[in-house]
Amino acid sequence: MRFSRPLIVILSLVLVLSAFSQETDKAKALENETMQHFQALLRFDTSDPPGNEKPAADYLKQVLEKEGIPVKVFALEPHRPNVVARLKGNGKKKPLLIMAHTDVVNVDATKWTHPPFGAAREGGWVYGRGTVDDKDNVVAALMTMLELKRQNVPLDRDVIFLAESGEEGSTRVGIQFMVNQHFAEIEAEFCLAEGGNVTRSGGQVKFASVQTLEKIPRAIELIARGVAGHGSVPLQTNAIVHLSAAVAAIGKWRPQIRLNDTTGAYFSRLAEISSPADAQRYRDILSLDPKKRDAADEYFLANEPRHASMIRTSVSPNIFTGGYRINLIPSEAKANLDVRTLPDENPASFLEEVKKVVNDPAIEVKFAARDVRPGGPNTRLDSEAFQVLEAAIKRHYNTVTLPTMSTGATDMAYLRAKGIQSFGIGPALDTEDGPKGFGAHSDQERILESELHRFVRFNWDVVNTLARAK
Ligand SMILES: [Zn+2]
Repeated sequence: MRFSRPLIVILSLVLVLSAFSQETDKAKALENETMQHFQALLRFDTSDPPGNEKPAADYLKQVLEKEGIPVKVFALEPHRPNVVARLKGNGKKKPLLIMAHTDVVNVDATKWTHPPFGAAREGGWVYGRGTVDDKDNVVAALMTMLELKRQNVPLDRDVIFLAESGEEGSTRVGIQFMVNQHFAEIEAEFCLAEGGNVTRSGGQVKFASVQTLEKIPRAIELIARGVAGHGSVPLQTNAIVHLSAAVAAIGKWRPQIRLNDTTGAYFSRLAEISSPADAQRYRDILSLDPKKRDAADEYFLANEPRHASMIRTSVSPNIFTGGYRINLIPSEAKANLDVRTLPDENPASFLEEVKKVVNDPAIEVKFAARDVRPGGPNTRLDSEAFQVLEAAIKRHYNTVTLPTMSTGATDMAYLRAKGIQSFGIGPALDTEDGPKGFGAHSDQERILESELHRFVRFNWDVVNTLARAK
């Protein structure tokens, strides 16, 4: 039988349209399912402390197992389990780990308009503690696992799902426990976790940040010692006077500027999307001309303190103690410095530099105890994972990717120390939302539903591209 040309055109149109409507039906169903899991997870109060991530972990386990994905649970404390699920690949490449934490920071419920664990939907937003930290990443990783399994995607590498507990301040039950006692279960070439996001302003996407590196927190203690005495007879050895001078010197000190792969790429890419005056400063900070560089640094210190911290090992004196009676000269005074070292900093030689700045034999300068998150090598910008992320950001958000080094610490530090190249990603957030009090850790938290769904599609695309058999 021969079809006339108009008939063929009409028939193909019908086929294309029905395929299209099947696609949109499927997309809608996935969005509904995403929302259902997201709301279920938000409704578990996993405030840390005390944590109690178990109900969320049980929920994830049941959803994964229902889909036929095997699950293992590892718990140092029974109410704080970590959930691991693995989809097997052919082993051509090393595994990909997709990780997110199930605990959330505490809330002051009286400050919330929508209850913090209600997962209310209103005006296109979802409200609740954890909506952007970090149950968005949990649900994106979960949906990706479910889809890989349903579509029976052949894999060149295992995809490992880890929902870890204790990220918000009790990593010993979460990532530390997994790395120290069950590393074989999560060992991977690449890891995707929280720590990045896409920045929107005025409803427009401006740029995407992918965290590729982080600074290492350390603590330095200054102890000034002098002679105790009567307050009516001032002494030159007064410990408080000595310590004050030392802290003031530290405050004025600007540790040397040093850039790395990540911060170098960050500033040069940021320059490309900034106003001319800002762009000039971002280029100047990369300049070899110390005059230009110091002027840009000066501006950062006053106006963009996060950028000033990104270009050096930073020191912030945050505790100052000494004295207990108005009429008594104390024999001792102490200050604690919050130090965030560049990942390649040599701690011992940095301590020597601090001693030189203090320059006072009456003051002991030493490292103090701190839960030091280990450092790791620079996550490579020329790695397959970074390139896949960059291309997917272009496809889904049509914007530039800025690799970032966070000044704070994340759970990825433990993985980087083990050689896992780790990347922090996240959904699009409105810059206007932070000041309104809707950001991570604020007294209210929310995410745009449309951005949650876009993030899930992005997550799926990245994992599918990195793991699917070629
Ligand atoms: Zn988090």
